[in-house]
Amino acid sequence: MITEQIAEKVRKAEAEIVGVCRDFTRIPSENPPGDTTEAFAYAADLLRKWGYEPRVIEAAPRRQNLIVAWDSGRPGRHLVFNGHLDVFPAGSRNSWAYDPFGGHVDGGRLYGRGTTDMKAGVTASLFAFRYLREFERRLTGRATLTLVCDEENFGPYGARHLVGNFPEVIGDALINGEPSTPSIMRIGDKGLVWAEASFRTRGGHAAYAHVSENAIHQAMRFLDEVKAIETWKSPLPAWLARHLAGVGRTMDRALGKGATAVARRYVVSLGMISGGIKVNMIPSECRVEIDARIPIGGNVERVVAALRKAATKYGADFTLLNSTEPSVTTWDHPIFQIGKRVLERVAGEKTVFAVGLGCNDARLWRYEGVPGLIYGPTPHNMGAADEYVEIEDLLRTAMVHAATAAEYLAGAQTGA
Ligand SMILES: [Zn+2]
Repeated sequence: MITEQIAEKVRKAEAEIVGVCRDFTRIPSENPPGDTTEAFAYAADLLRKWGYEPRVIEAAPRRQNLIVAWDSGRPGRHLVFNGHLDVFPAGSRNSWAYDPFGGHVDGGRLYGRGTTDMKAGVTASLFAFRYLREFERRLTGRATLTLVCDEENFGPYGARHLVGNFPEVIGDALINGEPSTPSIMRIGDKGLVWAEASFRTRGGHAAYAHVSENAIHQAMRFLDEVKAIETWKSPLPAWLARHLAGVGRTMDRALGKGATAVARRYVVSLGMISGGIKVNMIPSECRVEIDARIPIGGNVERVVAALRKAATKYGADFTLLNSTEPSVTTWDHPIFQIGKRVLERVAGEKTVFAVGLGCNDARLWRYEGVPGLIYGPTPHNMGAADEYVEIEDLLRTAMVHAATAAEYLAGAQTGA
């Protein structure tokens, strides 16, 4: 019942919802550099206009986060929304047909850097939060909306800062609007390791091969060795391996053929390489940056140990840049049951529980034992030129966030 009412409300508010997402798109918040000041000023103004009292928390200069609370005044569940307002860099303007910060709407699509990841998801959460007020009499418990910076780097100033310092943002269930598709609801995500290895040799004239080792060749041997991590046995727990075997077809259809296989295994990617100054000189320096993805059941420690061992073998300096453990929850929590029901009703499509290939801030709540439901728009050109969100998808995300929240907070009365 609430779901239908909310769907109707969202439909009627289309112009306003698209307007807010468009405004966000027009405020550049690329990370790097990661300055989110203007985006947070806009979000805070909007919430104030809706009668809320947001707190803007600056974890470092020009790195803001926002916390805002809604309380029914009756005891009950505590739902938390989370989203990030920093976006990937737009890259070269020449490759874009539309201005990445123009908020151009064309053919049912809103174009711009960060539309799909994840200013549409944030817009949906904001409207969901706003609608709680309108259904207040039928709800119990409370909700907290958290907007953060520094997600694209998995850095310390965003969600990590809030979860670590503000216990009021933990709650008992989370909704996050990172991109997804109607056929998939994520219950977990892979972990990651980012590391750097620097190779140094004497260098010399390329013709005098006997005088020095070649730093780039050493890096290549190192890369061959760390690539072997991909052959490690899949560490997935048996229940999840069984589940993925059952939903693999749907996952592959939604995320591309081969996605389920990637979810199960380790992935090692060479993301950056630099070295050498001239073709006929033996390079004395080579620096590589590695991105390793860890399936659920695996752990950071084992991957780091393997990378470090290989670096030592080839005489490289090793630096661990960042890491995060994989995380998963089971789907028996009411937030998933309600979310699935709502999504299937709104999207008219069957939804399965699956795991993500990347990772996002929902992991921080999972580490605290809080199940995180991730539902957002289908990503189109995410991280590439002409990123866009379909308006229909933006509206559906708003419906799913708002109706799941309302049903979750209404359900506490009936035990649903
Ligand atoms: Zn994101």
